[in-house]
Amino acid sequence: MTLTYEPIEGEHFVVVSETTGDSWEIVVGLEVHCELATTTKLFCGCPNMFGDEPNTNVCPVCLGLPGSLPVLNHNVVELAMRLGRALHCSVEPSVFARKNYFYPDMPKDYQVSQFDQPINVDGWLDLPDGTRVGIERAHIEEDTGKNTHAGGSGRIHGADYSLVDYNRAGVPLVEIVGRPHIRHPEQAKTYIDELRAILLTTGASDAKMEEGSLRVDANVSVRRVGDTELGTRCEVKNLNSLRSLGRAIEYEARRQVDLLETGERIKQETRHWDEGAGRTRAGRSKEEAEDYRYFQEPDLVPLAPSAEWIAAIDAAMPPLPAARRDALALAAGVAVTETSVVIAVQRDLDQLALATIAAGGDGKRVLTHVEHNLSGEGAVDLNPATFAQLVTLELGGQLTATQAKTVLAEMVTSGRAPDVIAAELGFEAMDSSELEGIVDGLIAESPEEWADFCTGDDKKRGKLQGFFTGKIMKATKGQADGKAVAAILESRRAASL
Ligand code: ZN
Ligand code: MN
Repeated sequence: MTLTYEPIEGEHFVVVSETTGDSWEIVVGLEVHCELATTTKLFCGCPNMFGDEPNTNVCPVCLGLPGSLPVLNHNVVELAMRLGRALHCSVEPSVFARKNYFYPDMPKDYQVSQFDQPINVDGWLDLPDGTRVGIERAHIEEDTGKNTHAGGSGRIHGADYSLVDYNRAGVPLVEIVGRPHIRHPEQAKTYIDELRAILLTTGASDAKMEEGSLRVDANVSVRRVGDTELGTRCEVKNLNSLRSLGRAIEYEARRQVDLLETGERIKQETRHWDEGAGRTRAGRSKEEAEDYRYFQEPDLVPLAPSAEWIAAIDAAMPPLPAARRDALALAAGVAVTETSVVIAVQRDLDQLALATIAAGGDGKRVLTHVEHNLSGEGAVDLNPATFAQLVTLELGGQLTATQAKTVLAEMVTSGRAPDVIAAELGFEAMDSSELEGIVDGLIAESPEEWADFCTGDDKKRGKLQGFFTGKIMKATKGQADGKAVAAILESRRAASL
């Protein structure tokens, strides 16, 4: 079954079932584990390093040997709070607990995590489209080691043997539990993009999905449009890229709508995304709550950061992506949801754009260049004063949009002034009567095409517009302004009718 997406005004999105024509809403809540960018692990002095020789960054503490005791890493708390405050959470006194279960990648047979008293609670994250996604909590916990199943398909079933690397055991994590406020696969991807930008801005994590330092689980459910209660959800694991995240949500929504429309019910369970097959598969059932026998970690005291510490973190908070978008949109006089604003901040070019606007560059024009012509290296070092000069030349009609693009590219590589480059390239303002003369000459050369252009249907006229524009560009060595050419052609056509 295919689902089509329809935005509904003032609401989120609905999916329309092809079979019944009914409208359904997708509800997604994301849980993100991110590894903190500390030098050492959470409770010991072992290096927190990705990609080292297996089992070289280990000690009695992170191997869980008897008699070893954990010592909390100050920098973990600092980064966790920085992230929490960036997500508008309140920092609360917290308690570490033991989450007991057996798995070979976890040498202690329990994971130290924060359970009923997490450090960061009740915040939010604003998406570029204006949606506010609630954050239930962002707590500290330790990572496990890594199993590698050799032989067979790489899964434990059918493997010849398994290897365990404990370098990752005890690496600090923050688990960010988002509220179910996401309504579309693309929105889920945007949420991760935005979260990643916050992690990078605060220095909390390098947030590399491909290296596993940012891992996403998606809780997906569907409900009929108008229903206020949440449907039964499935938790999809193993989402290693944004592409997988979007595809998995889409697949799950389709699967669940199919089941519900045929009168079946959704079983609450963990499901694994199979990227190759493009589908999710059932994992363990969650119908009965797992009993992790949580209890307070007896080897660690409760954590209560002082008000001064929290205030110092707030004072040192760098401008976050949402605030940077607000500032740029205001300066440029455009809506904060404009793609060019979002892209400028993503590319770290918002400071350049702001300085260029301050130097007199037209806001909209500056943003257009940032969005379309400044994706490469070196753009960030562009001189705002000369960038503003270029935009002014362009708006004054001395340069066409195409010429401005060429000049800008040259400015990025050479750092020279736009008027110097334009003169060197022979980009000179073309006098409008000169251009009209050239156009009239070319019309006279091709009377048949011209007659077809004047009387033909839209399709034919479009084709012939290209024919004449091409000739004019050739005759003027590309110096004619495309918009001016179109205007002259149109006025000549109107006059001939
Ligand atoms: Zn260690
Ligand atoms: Mn967790």
